[in-house]
Amino acid sequence: MKHGGFIPRTGDERASGDRVKAHFVNRTLFILNFHGVGRSSTTVTSTEQRFRVDVSFFEDIIDLVRGRGDVQLTFDDSNESDHEIALPTLLARHMTAKIFVVAHRIGQRNYLSEAQLKTLASAGMSIGCHGMHHRPWTGLSEQELHTELVDAKNRLAEIIDQPVDEAACPFGAYDRRVLGAVRHYGYRRIYTTDECPAFTDSWIQPRFSIKRSHDLSQVEKLVTQVPKGCRKLWWAVKMKWRAMI
Ligand SMILES: [Zn+2]
Repeated sequence: MKHGGFIPRTGDERASGDRVKAHFVNRTLFILNFHGVGRSSTTVTSTEQRFRVDVSFFEDIIDLVRGRGDVQLTFDDSNESDHEIALPTLLARHMTAKIFVVAHRIGQRNYLSEAQLKTLASAGMSIGCHGMHHRPWTGLSEQELHTELVDAKNRLAEIIDQPVDEAACPFGAYDRRVLGAVRHYGYRRIYTTDECPAFTDSWIQPRFSIKRSHDLSQVEKLVTQVPKGCRKLWWAVKMKWRAMI
């Protein structure tokens, strides 16, 4: 399998340097990522169950970050609770979120239906792509990547009748080749789960995954403190970014 075919290397180096510099003086963002709210469903895996949170804990988190312009909310995996629980909770507080959808799951039991997806989009939630089959994008063939990144986003765009230009990589797995492919296929942002704050204008957006085992004081720390090791992560991201432009 040929690797590296998606990594673009053209462009003016000086302009690229300016962009990298600008990238790192941008405002810090704390992005929280959820994977289902409320009672367990039979179709989610045990790994996904570890990230599913109770309704009351979810509401406490939403109230904690309400009004915080430097906090964003995202939801992965297309759980039906994105529509049934998260949507009314957010709308009642005049808040929005980004919903990253697995295209092949649409209409399956306990996952979002086409109608629910349309409702989320028309209610002001941003719809992004979480791939076609919920598999890691690292190590896929070019054809498989096309399925995950292009066919999936086209299906979503057709349903909501809007362009889809943000992606979240399943299992937080990415490498330079994945980043190159995501960029090649026209995505405006990629969301990871690197457990660090992001920067407002960065193309790569690290997020914090909320786990069932968290408590509210731990979540409060996530949205107020920069964890140790983030400078190293930011540097690695900067190098990946620089290699691509
Ligand atoms: Zn996922």
